[in-house]
Amino acid sequence: MSVPQVLTVPQHFPQIRRGRLETVQVNLGYRCNQACHHCHVEAGPNRPEQMSLQTMEEILRLVERLGTNKLDITGGAPELNPHFRHLVLAAKALGCQVIDRCNLTILLEPDQETLADFLAQQGVEVVASLPCYLESNVDAQRGKGVFRKSVEAIRLLNEKGYAQPGSPLILNLVYNPQGTNLPPSQENLQREYKKHLHDEYGINFNQLFTLTNMPIQRFAHQLRRQQQLEYYYRLLEQNYQEQNLAEVMCRHLISIDWQGYVYDCDFNQMLALPLGGLSPRPHVKDLQAEYLLDADIRTGRHCFGCTAGQGSSCGGALNKTENS
Ligand code: SF4
Ligand code: SF4
Repeated sequence: MSVPQVLTVPQHFPQIRRGRLETVQVNLGYRCNQACHHCHVEAGPNRPEQMSLQTMEEILRLVERLGTNKLDITGGAPELNPHFRHLVLAAKALGCQVIDRCNLTILLEPDQETLADFLAQQGVEVVASLPCYLESNVDAQRGKGVFRKSVEAIRLLNEKGYAQPGSPLILNLVYNPQGTNLPPSQENLQREYKKHLHDEYGINFNQLFTLTNMPIQRFAHQLRRQQQLEYYYRLLEQNYQEQNLAEVMCRHLISIDWQGYVYDCDFNQMLALPLGGLSPRPHVKDLQAEYLLDADIRTGRHCFGCTAGQGSSCGGALNKTENS
């Protein structure tokens, strides 16, 4: 990986403001069938937090009120929320594009046999984590046997029409580095992933999103134990690229937690930094459009994770020519 030229390294992350809202991202809870080392929401099988049906209804009313047409559903494993399918159906009825941030292995759980068909029938876009195309690396980060199950789940989605020529069903994969390095070129890595996964396993996907590991929650604890947390912060700061600032995801997105509280992004949610730093923290049922457009975004040192190198967002790299 070539080292990008450092233009300026601000002492503090620059103040930024929200533009037009395009996406409402909702976290349905922290329960997950996996417990990955890098998980920034510290999800796992024993987490009890789950969004209620009432909160989902409030979110749907907000989506209608704001006229937003993209609902991005995450967790935990969001499909484990008992009201997941209701939310998808209701959002589709409002004309929303729906994204399911899926861990793949959930598709093979005993009570989820109909999930792949449901997602395909509703035209849900699947964004799925696969942090490497090599079995040993995936299993080291996400647990033993996860790679094989992920391959099986991608095959199942391919059979349902995902990532097939001419099909509207989209399956995007997500890569994140194994440790304290920045992601390599998204374009080059996508080429390698596509070739390896097709040649070795006969499976296909649409796009690869490369994400930078955020120094928060489980990954931050790991770095602290290894006495690498400060090193990693500095790496992110030293690779600051000003041009990424215009496209950081919080400019066009809000994030809602399982209780209905609103944040500038998923990372701020995990750090309990409310929308715009407002107090008391705003709840979805009270949120009005004027709180959003051109409003200050609550930033912090972790934000350098979004602007380092080629940049990082829930849609992958921001500046796709950097590092290529
Ligand atoms: S699958 Fe995703 S939500 Fe679940 S533990 Fe792993 S990273 Fe966290
Ligand atoms: S961490 Fe969140 S608030 Fe900070 S720049 Fe990234 S998306 Fe924006």
